Amino acid sequence: MADNTGVNLALYRKYRSATFAEVIGQEHVTEPLRHALSNSRINHAYLFSGPRGCGKTSSARILARSLNCIQGPTPDPCGVCDSCRELAPNGPGSIDVIEIDAASHGGVDDARDLRERAFFAPVRDRYKVYIIDEAHMVTTQGFNALLKLVEEPPDFLVFVFATTEPDKVLTTIRSRTHHYPFRLIPPGAMRAHLEKICTAESITVEPPVLPLVVRAGGGSARDSLSILDQLLAGAGPDGVTYARAVALLGVTDGALIDDMVDALAAGDAAAVYGTIDRVVEAGHDPRRFASDLLDRFRDLILLDAVPEAAARGLIDAPQDAAAHMSDQATRLGGGTVTRYAEIVHTALIEMRGTTSPRLVLELLCARMQLPDAATDSAALLQRLERLERRYTAAGSPEPTAEASAAATPKTAPTKPAPTAPRPPAAKVAPGAAAPSPAAPDPASQREPWPTAPAKQAPEPAGAAPAAKTPPPPEVPPAEQASSGVPGELDAAALRRLWPEVLDIVKLSSRRTRALLDNAQITAAVGDLITLSAPAALAKMLADESNTSVLRTALTKVVGGTWRIDVDGSGSTGPAAVEAPEPAQRPGPEPDPRDDTEIEAPGERAAEVDPEVEALRLLQDQLGARPVDEK
Ligand SMILES: [Zn+2]
Repeated sequence: MADNTGVNLALYRKYRSATFAEVIGQEHVTEPLRHALSNSRINHAYLFSGPRGCGKTSSARILARSLNCIQGPTPDPCGVCDSCRELAPNGPGSIDVIEIDAASHGGVDDARDLRERAFFAPVRDRYKVYIIDEAHMVTTQGFNALLKLVEEPPDFLVFVFATTEPDKVLTTIRSRTHHYPFRLIPPGAMRAHLEKICTAESITVEPPVLPLVVRAGGGSARDSLSILDQLLAGAGPDGVTYARAVALLGVTDGALIDDMVDALAAGDAAAVYGTIDRVVEAGHDPRRFASDLLDRFRDLILLDAVPEAAARGLIDAPQDAAAHMSDQATRLGGGTVTRYAEIVHTALIEMRGTTSPRLVLELLCARMQLPDAATDSAALLQRLERLERRYTAAGSPEPTAEASAAATPKTAPTKPAPTAPRPPAAKVAPGAAAPSPAAPDPASQREPWPTAPAKQAPEPAGAAPAAKTPPPPEVPPAEQASSGVPGELDAAALRRLWPEVLDIVKLSSRRTRALLDNAQITAAVGDLITLSAPAALAKMLADESNTSVLRTALTKVVGGTWRIDVDGSGSTGPAAVEAPEPAQRPGPEPDPRDDTEIEAPGERAAEVDPEVEALRLLQDQLGARPVDEK
């Protein structure tokens, strides 16, 4: 619909409601008004309050139209009489319905002027209706000037005060009015309204666009329609596309939100910070992103609590997006999402006025990923789960006497090697020095857990490094040992969790991971873990740069804080050097990441520190022993 200037009529004016039945989302107000009209119970003053753009002024005009219809007062104005046509949404207006904008005419002089005119009877119609818009802008003197009129009005006079701030309307005036509070329009009603308008305008709009408009409109019909107006104006031959709407409205692309939630669910820190980088690179405001992320968490919380939330209209999302969000809710779990939402909410407050919103966004992501940093119950739950895992690993039943003796920290102190120094022959026949796996020989403790039992034909010493021909996974009895105290980690329990620890070490430092190939857990007493390694390596391994990586990894896997002691006095033979391949891990809870961590032997060899490799070759091939035995 274009007028003669060629300018399109704004959607908000074009689709303005003409009757109370057409007012959307305000049934709590329009229903009682309709009843009052049909019962002819007319008050002389009405107060319409509520947020901007939700239909107050439109409703005031509809009220005037309903009162002055030739068949009125009626809830359904005829639409054909003079008054109805004049008061139609785009009609010229009626001489007996006077609209006053109090923002510009709220002074005492205006009020006195109004008071004098108000006593003249209506020219043609039943009522003389004054619609005072922005009524909170009327000054106190202005209200006082009107007071007498509102208290004792002539029969034909009706006031409608419309305001966003009813509290600013003089109390004595307000007490004479019937107060009808308008509300923000619910998303469902707004969306249906927008769909109707798009159909009427015959413009194609991609389904995900409307929720964006509804959200951006914030429950105001006027704002929502202005936004839609702008989108329709810029629509190409394909109509309004999601990409165009996202760009124009400055909202975060749902794909970025999806990426962030998926990365958080997977615990993939690289993807989390990569997404932040893309948000900033794409020119999005980090605050806006955090706010949109919070909206998503809200949806996930609802989906976790009410799985059919999408079908019940609690979540405004297209079908396929709702299915993906259900999946995200399941992966994260209700407790975690709630905690995330609280973190983002707090960060949004912190972001106000910060000069570096990106930094705050990154910090909040760090906070989400670190359950240890928080002490609330959700974070504690997450930590509890880890403790349970630790308990399961440590609390294995049937400790044999020998195994206990071997594994009990008291008998495996920090210097196990001197009690049974390995003869050089051990290098030739790995494991020969420990014919019985159950024997309390410290050597058995130096064996990594997927050890080659002695009864198997040993490899000749000159063959390829043992690490390249990993033995079949077999848990020697010593591994099943337990300190007998549930939840307390002994060396054996720790060895079962070792592959997971090594995985995490590898993420931080491949060098540390390589060094650990040559070390074994010989004891775990309290928070002290003793590793044994060849002397030259022990020195390197004992360096803070390596132990701190290992301590962090231990904390991640089993919680708690740990001290690491590296014992270099024990010369470990080649048998001990053999490193467990990740694929061979007999860990009680296989880490799903194992699938991706399996490496070819050659690949593994490539990552070994050349220094370590050289040392190993010297030992293996030439029987060399470090001179410096510490
Ligand atoms: Zn009429």
